[in-house]
Amino acid sequence: MKEAILVKEGEIFLKGLNKKKFESTLIKNIKSAIKDLGEFTILKEQSTITIIPSKDIDLDFVLDKISKVFGISVFSKALIVEKDFEIIKNSCIKYLEKNLKNSKNFKVISKRSDKNFPLSSQSICCEIGEFILSNFKHMSVNLHNPEISIYIEIRDSFSYIYSKPFKGAGGIPVNNKEKALLLLSGGIDSPVAAWMISKRGISLSAVHFISPPYTGARALKKVEDLILILKEWNLKIPLYIVNTTKLQEEIKKNCPQNLLTIVLRRAMIKIAQKIAIEEKEKGNVEIKALVTGESLSQVASQTLSAIACTNSVSSIPILRPLIGMDKEEIVTLAKKIGSFNTSILPYEDCCSVFSPKHPKTNPRLFEIENAEKNLNLEEIIDFCLENKELKIL
Ligand code: ATP
Ligand code: MG
Repeated sequence: MKEAILVKEGEIFLKGLNKKKFESTLIKNIKSAIKDLGEFTILKEQSTITIIPSKDIDLDFVLDKISKVFGISVFSKALIVEKDFEIIKNSCIKYLEKNLKNSKNFKVISKRSDKNFPLSSQSICCEIGEFILSNFKHMSVNLHNPEISIYIEIRDSFSYIYSKPFKGAGGIPVNNKEKALLLLSGGIDSPVAAWMISKRGISLSAVHFISPPYTGARALKKVEDLILILKEWNLKIPLYIVNTTKLQEEIKKNCPQNLLTIVLRRAMIKIAQKIAIEEKEKGNVEIKALVTGESLSQVASQTLSAIACTNSVSSIPILRPLIGMDKEEIVTLAKKIGSFNTSILPYEDCCSVFSPKHPKTNPRLFEIENAEKNLNLEEIIDFCLENKELKIL
């Protein structure tokens, strides 16, 4: 009995003329996700990708990896069977014997993409159904709410039998030619923002700001661990680490306390943008947007006025995928992604170390710009950038 994994493409089918490009990105991403698990033949037939292992291996590990590849709507482990109806019938009851014994009713769903196969989909369903009924006398057919659904697919290569389709990660395959830069703190929100943007097919680099000695090695380690958790989702995110101690001390010393948060946020955006420009100058894939984990009205720096002040320093879009979510929704997603337990480790972030007691929630752009005139911002920002470090985890 040889098994394969069948993968159904998600939104790719919506992409018209670009469909082929999306499909080849998805196949590339699948290959990369499972490359350490063995050798596989990958077949592409209509909108199904079939993964056939060359040796007998535990496919559950492969299923686990596939569940974290974006661009997949449904996937399942299936039995590979010759395209001979007698063999299909017998294999079906043998392969699913345990499930059939333990269920009271069933439904057969069949798909015949090889139109040369002698039976229509409808006939396949009827014949297999009757065969099951005659072999498992306790069973009945239930078309609306079956305990077990039996899928028979007749494809060009082989036929396939399975009963348990899993929901895939959805979204669009991550394409390394479309890139954004994530501002990654050690908090709950920004890793979730990373996941959401990646799910839309965008690849990421990240920047994390540290301010030693106010923030410690464990806070940085936590961010590196978050990058590794995102890597489980097949996201390879190079991490820039920028020391902003000098910048934060300057702001703390020479800026009205209630404007400090927003001035720092603008400086962070300026730094991120300069990294984006440097990447382009080095001939790397162009970074076309920044990404943050901000959500509207969550804290003082996330009011509409504050966001407007932050946006005005950026010439590229700032994407905020969590903008309309409340904390509970973000936490639920963080748990699904696997980042939550790491995010809640209690190490200081550079923002919280310097955050004022009463930040202004309704800052006006002119007062922020006036406050910035008293700071030596550009020079210090360049100093921070000169000393940045790039880590590939
Ligand atoms: P998070 O949970 O992502 O930390 P938050 O709700 O705590 O978000 P803030 O701390 O105000 O909100 O941060 C808002 C956003 O600013 C973060 O989501 C992140 O994108 C960015 N940010 C904050 N601190 C840092 C940092 N030390 N390095 C990089 N980006 C940061
Ligand atoms: Mg935070």
